[in-house]
Amino acid sequence: MTNTDTEIISSSRDDDSVTPSATITFADFGLDPLIQKAVSEQGYTIPTPIQAQSIPHVLAGSDLMGAAQTGTGKTAAFVLPIIQKILRHASSSASPARHPIRALVLTPTRELAVQVAENAANYSRHTDLRAAVVYGGVDMKEQVAILRNGVEILIATPGRLLDHIGSKVANLSQVEILVLDEADRMLDMGFLPDLQRIIDLIPAQRQTLLFSATFSPEIKKLAQSYLRTPVTVEVARQNAAADTVKQVIHMVSSGDKQRAIVRVLEARTRQGLSRQCIIFTNSRLGCARLARALERDGIKAGAIHGDKSQGERTLTLDAFKSGAIEALVATDVAARGLDIPDMPCVINHELPFNAEDFIHRIGRTGRAGSTGDAIALVDASEKRLLDDIEKLMKRKLDVKPLPEGNPSYSRTSSPNPFSRTSAPEKMSDPFFYKPYEPSAASTVSDDASKPGEKKVGIVPAKPAVGALLGGFKKK
Ligand code: AMP
Repeated sequence: MTNTDTEIISSSRDDDSVTPSATITFADFGLDPLIQKAVSEQGYTIPTPIQAQSIPHVLAGSDLMGAAQTGTGKTAAFVLPIIQKILRHASSSASPARHPIRALVLTPTRELAVQVAENAANYSRHTDLRAAVVYGGVDMKEQVAILRNGVEILIATPGRLLDHIGSKVANLSQVEILVLDEADRMLDMGFLPDLQRIIDLIPAQRQTLLFSATFSPEIKKLAQSYLRTPVTVEVARQNAAADTVKQVIHMVSSGDKQRAIVRVLEARTRQGLSRQCIIFTNSRLGCARLARALERDGIKAGAIHGDKSQGERTLTLDAFKSGAIEALVATDVAARGLDIPDMPCVINHELPFNAEDFIHRIGRTGRAGSTGDAIALVDASEKRLLDDIEKLMKRKLDVKPLPEGNPSYSRTSSPNPFSRTSAPEKMSDPFFYKPYEPSAASTVSDDASKPGEKKVGIVPAKPAVGALLGGFKKK
């Protein structure tokens, strides 16, 4: 099967990726009242562009390639029509045989899996459909019990799903709809062989939906192999960031970056802006160190990276969501897919090695129509990375001086940290050159669902996740 006859149904303007569509309402999709009720309870009034464009095609049974950044509302774009399509199978019977897996969503990380599952549980809460999530890094027993009980919508990371298939706990023979969410990331993380094994177990007579922030040649190849004449929906220019994100670069010497963060947060306080921010680092070690250093500077900070257990990550994320932590320092893989509504500010403590990761990072802010600030602290050694990012985004990013700060911090700043043409720094900063870990390594341990990399531990029960792990929705 190929997608040579891919139909480009929409290649919308850059500025409408997150602005809800004014002409279509959720009622226009003809969704079951039980689903509509759940949507209204979420407070959604009108669909976002990706929802407006995707939902009718998914309902009509088409395969679909969705180019959508995080924060555009893409989860509801596939979850809502999936619920509608499998609602006819909903059964109040307790018999597991009446609850086979009808829809399978594969995601690269457990964080994203949990979020998709929370969405699925929320949107299907008034129906008899069951949603559950399985991912690596936690004990299998609880997941086995859920799968044995029966579940119609399963969200899974590939490695752990294969484990369950291997032990005959998960059976994909009745799957009707397959979703590959953040497919680009799954390929980056080396999941292609796992995906191939899984897809081979799903009936050919299925509907396949693929979502990806970017359509790289590898993604197109994946689509050619597994999608049938897909409709392509793009809600933003490929490789562009949402226009609701205000991007600024501060040129700062590598030794001054931590102080620069303090100054940025001080300035936000003075301007009456929220200090809540997510700060990206490239290495786990750097992530942990930075969080500790910020704590010493009086900033309530927490770290989320691949060496943290699932339980620790959940606690940190909850503390961040509740406001107990104002700066969440994170590595890429750990932060992937985190759904933090109205995230006001993203700070890149260093630029990612892969320019596409920059777009994912800043996609944490300016989501679903809200505005956000994306600040990158760039030192002389990162000029090449900045060039790559600007090339990918097809525009120059604004370089601005750091905001004025507490004099005790300014005193130690480098003489001319603001100029892009400042003399190159010494390239011997241990923070930048030693702690980096190969991305493959961090990838593997961040999704411990890959065979051979299992970690043990139970997710401490956050109510919604607990309900999901139980395989049933809260009424
Ligand atoms: P997603 O891109 O799926 O991660 O969604 C990003 C955020 O947008 C989430 O917090 C959703 O709850 C929110 N969202 C999704 N659809 C809508 C909508 N139609 N109106 C307002 N917010 C939405």
